[in-house]
Amino acid sequence: MSDNRVRADGARVLADLNALRAIGTYKTGVHKPTFSEPHMRSLAWLEARLPEAGLAATIDGIGNVLGTSAKSGRKLLAGSHLESQNYAGWLDGPLGVVYALEAARVINPDPAVNGAVEVAAWCDEEGHFGSFLGSRSYVGGVAEAEIDAARDRNGDRTMRQALQDTGLAGRPRVTAERGRHVGYLEAHIEQGETLERGDLKIGVVTSIVGIWQYRISFIGEQNHAGTTRMEIRKDAGLALARFCVAIDDRFPKACGPRTVWTTGRITLDPGAPSIIPGRAEMLFQIRDDDPAVIERLEELLRSMIGDVNAEGRCSVALERIRTGAPAMMDAAFQNAIEAASTAFAGGKSVRMPSGAGHDAQVLATIMPAGMLFVPSIGGISHHWSENTADADIVTGAQVFVDACRRLLS
Ligand SMILES: [Zn+2]
Repeated sequence: MSDNRVRADGARVLADLNALRAIGTYKTGVHKPTFSEPHMRSLAWLEARLPEAGLAATIDGIGNVLGTSAKSGRKLLAGSHLESQNYAGWLDGPLGVVYALEAARVINPDPAVNGAVEVAAWCDEEGHFGSFLGSRSYVGGVAEAEIDAARDRNGDRTMRQALQDTGLAGRPRVTAERGRHVGYLEAHIEQGETLERGDLKIGVVTSIVGIWQYRISFIGEQNHAGTTRMEIRKDAGLALARFCVAIDDRFPKACGPRTVWTTGRITLDPGAPSIIPGRAEMLFQIRDDDPAVIERLEELLRSMIGDVNAEGRCSVALERIRTGAPAMMDAAFQNAIEAASTAFAGGKSVRMPSGAGHDAQVLATIMPAGMLFVPSIGGISHHWSENTADADIVTGAQVFVDACRRLLS
């Protein structure tokens, strides 16, 4: 059935992605921090393309580009982001925006479809100024005070100044019109190697994992590193190091199939080689899409902490500093992507959670949402060498357009 219909134009998709890569090029990737000149030029590029899809374009007061349709019938919202991490890849973000644009160009003029694809480029998904500021603003989750307080993590510029510099200050922020959209669909590179290793072409995202973060503090006794005998030391740094090893021993028996955990910053106080550290602290993160797994691991952490405290040399405290509920992707969206993969990717798809955060998790708070992944070569992302085979980009575009069609029918 799908074969009689107009398909995505693979050459046009590749040309668009390369046009965006030519703005702010860095080696084979791009450098487009939020509100930088190349980022703004990329937004203008999109704004100029949207009328080709019968969409009226706006850049709103937080830097979201939105293309809206006057066509009657159902509306599907689709998109991603156009800024990049610093000195990073060309596809992280633009792939999803160009697929959305292509779906709109193919579907919106088609009288056989009673509905339209509307396109969005969400500002600052990469978090230069905050956390999902663009998509959160669209769902009504950003207060003016948050914008007042936001500043560039890599520079001095405040967000207010950046909005002033880019001419966006004073523009209204567009928020979602409740009930307008059947949902939100986003395509993204996988940024991992599950698809490549399995010779698969499409990842059907089931959920976007939640992130839980902890501060684990150790208190021992600060003392002279030369005169304090080993047997009587209360070395908080050593207790921390042992704890890290113990986590790695015990978590694998309690975790889920895709749980990941990471120790981030470790600090030793005072951290001088001639002083036994009296205090030590580690930031620790767990990601999973099942809150029950997190609960189990948290319980395990507490019991391990109980063991250290019972041993008596050092005391340990656990503090949860961030809780992230996972975002579940809509079942009908997953089915549509899977059916489109059967039609256009030889059925080479797999259902999988996303270990990385995406705007879809924000949109999922107000409407059904879905995501599809295309393979990342070597699983590399957030690096200028990030890439996907042209053939896989084109296959992904066909699947995306067909999934949009199914969701609008
Ligand atoms: Zn991204």
